[in-house]
Amino acid sequence: MVKATPGWVGGSALGTPLLPIKLDNYKPLRELVFEALREAIISGRLQPGERLMEAQLAQDLGVSRTPVREAIRKLELEGFVVMIPRKGAYVADISLKDIADVFEIRGALEGLAAELAAERATDEEIEQLERQLVEYAECIERQDVARLVEIDTKFHETLYTASRNERLGQMLNLLREQIQRFRTRTLSLPDRMRLALEEHRAVVEAVASRDPEAARRLAQEHIESAENSLMALMVRDELRSRRPTGARGEMAASRASQAPVASGLPAPEQGPEGAS
Ligand SMILES: [Zn+2]
Repeated sequence: MVKATPGWVGGSALGTPLLPIKLDNYKPLRELVFEALREAIISGRLQPGERLMEAQLAQDLGVSRTPVREAIRKLELEGFVVMIPRKGAYVADISLKDIADVFEIRGALEGLAAELAAERATDEEIEQLERQLVEYAECIERQDVARLVEIDTKFHETLYTASRNERLGQMLNLLREQIQRFRTRTLSLPDRMRLALEEHRAVVEAVASRDPEAARRLAQEHIESAENSLMALMVRDELRSRRPTGARGEMAASRASQAPVASGLPAPEQGPEGAS
């Protein structure tokens, strides 16, 4: 995986240089180009609505246009890019409705994964989940946000593995990636990390006591809880950005009833806003 440029700052613009691809003996070039572009979209270096210029990207990545074209086609299939006829390829914009749709599917599938894990997890996997809870708590203690996001991802991946359904894991990873970029863009609610830990703990207890029904319900509630936090932040941002005109978005209004948006949220802190 090609990592984001460490020194990169600020908002993206056309022509933002991507790092040249480092060749790898084990992976075909088209795969490396695909991974580099997907990483740039997920990390926000290529921004929603930004046009993808084949020639420019090929030059930045130090490759020919063919693997870039192939990568763009594959990104379109995965929903990261939209093709507009006679205009070209653009980084897919994502609306609150899109995010809500992703969370809806993810909630159901995370529930299924936890349900199956309660039936199929090995004792070693349950021990691993318990260790991950301890590590999660340590990250909160140290306020190590970067590590916490990693542990969070690993925790869910352990559940997918324990579900013994590889397709389910693949689908969930894809859904996660589609909303991952918002973790770098928005800020966390102060209590979200601790709440996420308690939710994880409840799921692990249900899996350990081999209670599939409870595991499913608790995992689904955990995802809904993460969604509410993220939506509250996004709606607040939207309200703020609209305040000068006094207009209020349709989506903002409908979501505002479910989330404590306008009722004096505490000051945001840096962190994994969508910790889930
Ligand atoms: Zn989680």
